[in-house]
Amino acid sequence: MTMMATTEKRDYYEVLGIARGASVDDIKKAYRKLAVKYHPDKNPGDAEAEEKFKEAAEAYGVLSDEEKRARYDRYGHQAGGASGFDPNQFADFGDILGDLFGFGDFFGTSRRRTTRPARGNDIRYDLRLEFMEAVFGKDVTLKVPRVEQCKTCSGSGAKPGTQPVTCSGCGGRGQIRFSQGFLAVARTCPQCGGAGKVIKDPCVTCSGAGRVEEERQLSVKIPAGVDDGSRLRVAGEGEAGYNGGPAGDLYVFLSVADHPKFTRRDYDVHSEQAVTFTQAALGAEVRTTTVDGEESLRVPAGTQPSQVFRLRGKGVQFLDGTGRGDHYVHVTVRVPTTLSDEQRALLEQLAALDGEVPGERKFIEKVKDLFT
Ligand SMILES: [Zn+2]
Ligand SMILES: [Zn+2]
Repeated sequence: MTMMATTEKRDYYEVLGIARGASVDDIKKAYRKLAVKYHPDKNPGDAEAEEKFKEAAEAYGVLSDEEKRARYDRYGHQAGGASGFDPNQFADFGDILGDLFGFGDFFGTSRRRTTRPARGNDIRYDLRLEFMEAVFGKDVTLKVPRVEQCKTCSGSGAKPGTQPVTCSGCGGRGQIRFSQGFLAVARTCPQCGGAGKVIKDPCVTCSGAGRVEEERQLSVKIPAGVDDGSRLRVAGEGEAGYNGGPAGDLYVFLSVADHPKFTRRDYDVHSEQAVTFTQAALGAEVRTTTVDGEESLRVPAGTQPSQVFRLRGKGVQFLDGTGRGDHYVHVTVRVPTTLSDEQRALLEQLAALDGEVPGERKFIEKVKDLFT
């Protein structure tokens, strides 16, 4: 092995300033820090920075590769292939810095089409539910337009019976490399767009894309208790993965319509119930409506307007199924707007008992004042 410089090669862990047991994440972080600090663009003409940059890149190239790192840990710099500046690694560095930093063209590589497996995109699906559907749940069939792997070519993009061939422009690497000083500059191969392969006979179903857009019918069980703004995740029902990677997830965003009678607050339901002023004064058994249907409600004598009664356990089922919220009945008192002669006579009699002077002010108006 030839060592160019007279200076002894520094330990890779020392170069990155990390412990020997450092995690892959720590290695990445340490390298990013150094790469940004010593990048030649930031330190034009600074030979020492350039050397540091190179040193860090080399250390990273070895320590970020499980196999090379194990070899290095055992044999140090004597490990075959563990040392030396390998410009081929730059593609991956570009990816790392690009991914984590948003450096688009850090190494002159525009984001290339990768042939590595990648997870498919997630899909958002907006679903509107009626109030009662949210309360009790519903089985729905969603029609989800999503990208799926082409069945004709099994995602290869090539006509069945044919294979994508290795790109002659880049030899399958997806990139074309140049040397600029010590820096290896890689560009996306214009011939294959970075895929490294070229499809000579494209699949007719997908025109070579390997993926097609299809509408899929999906049965989803909306659980009882969901609310406006709830979000359901259906794992694996998003778009197909790339190059055999796993599919993304489907997210169902729920909105819930208002109800003419009920208002919901978390798992509790609120409603109004009108009673007559005699029912309020004398007490009564009235029928009121909850999400379960009609319920009997005992309004005690002397009930005041806006008084609230609770019907325990008559609200919405908890999403985890462990119980239910309550139903709150807000009482409103209805004052008659027209009175028969007999009703009037009786009320005037009542007014007289209460010490009212009939005629001075209509008793019924006083009752109105009282209840509004
Ligand atoms: Zn190519
Ligand atoms: Zn196809």
